[in-house]
Amino acid sequence: MPGTPLNTARENERKLNFWERLYLPEIFKGLAWSASKIWKEPLYTFQYPEEQWYPPDSYRGRPVLVEEDGKARCVSCNLCAKACPPMAISMEAQEIEGPKEREPAWFEIDMLRCIYCGFCEEVCPEEAIVMSKEYDLTFENREEAIFKMDRLLVVKEQLEDRLNYLERQRNPEFGAQWDYDQTNNRHSLRGTDFLAHLSGEREAGEPEGRAREAEAREAGAREDGELEHGALEAGS
Ligand code: SF4
Ligand code: SF4
Repeated sequence: MPGTPLNTARENERKLNFWERLYLPEIFKGLAWSASKIWKEPLYTFQYPEEQWYPPDSYRGRPVLVEEDGKARCVSCNLCAKACPPMAISMEAQEIEGPKEREPAWFEIDMLRCIYCGFCEEVCPEEAIVMSKEYDLTFENREEAIFKMDRLLVVKEQLEDRLNYLERQRNPEFGAQWDYDQTNNRHSLRGTDFLAHLSGEREAGEPEGRAREAEAREAGAREDGELEHGALEAGS
């Protein structure tokens, strides 16, 4: 055929022996190898959708919002929307009473845009958005692909696998360098020393928050030590 390059690189080419040049023995060898795999190998395929695959905890299915005590954990900080590469997340915040202060008035994820990267889960300070195990999504039109709060909210108990996985994967060194308190997830600065400090209510030079608690503990320990010392001296 004109224009077809000829393979002229015969240098170092292995010479076929007589049986290989017949081709048929090699074809039967190949068929025997394939047939042996039918019986020996485990089955890797599923009869989907009758048989469903249950993914491992590390699997990143569609992102969902964690619902705790009947409410979304989300504080509408917008970090996930900023981190989302295809800009699939949109939301609007509203102020509420209580320690949380803010929650989403509405929250949407465009599942036609989502690339299941998990960045939203990674940046969320509240573990309020996590990757679920749901992978079989179907839509009939573009509007259906925009998931709102009603489809995004999943109760925490159903997401235990993923939440426990995130807990296990967290850097065990995190917080080792300072006095990190797991319960210090306050959601709000209302009523804290920080706001008092900003509004000028706290005396200049007065220690703040945990430092003050530590000082009080130290002072208490010193007093206890002095009392014990005094009691020992009185006894001797
Ligand atoms: S998984 Fe990635 S693409 Fe999907 S919503 Fe989260 S950040 Fe956006
Ligand atoms: S990062 Fe978390 S808390 Fe912040 S808006 Fe997103 S889901 Fe809500």
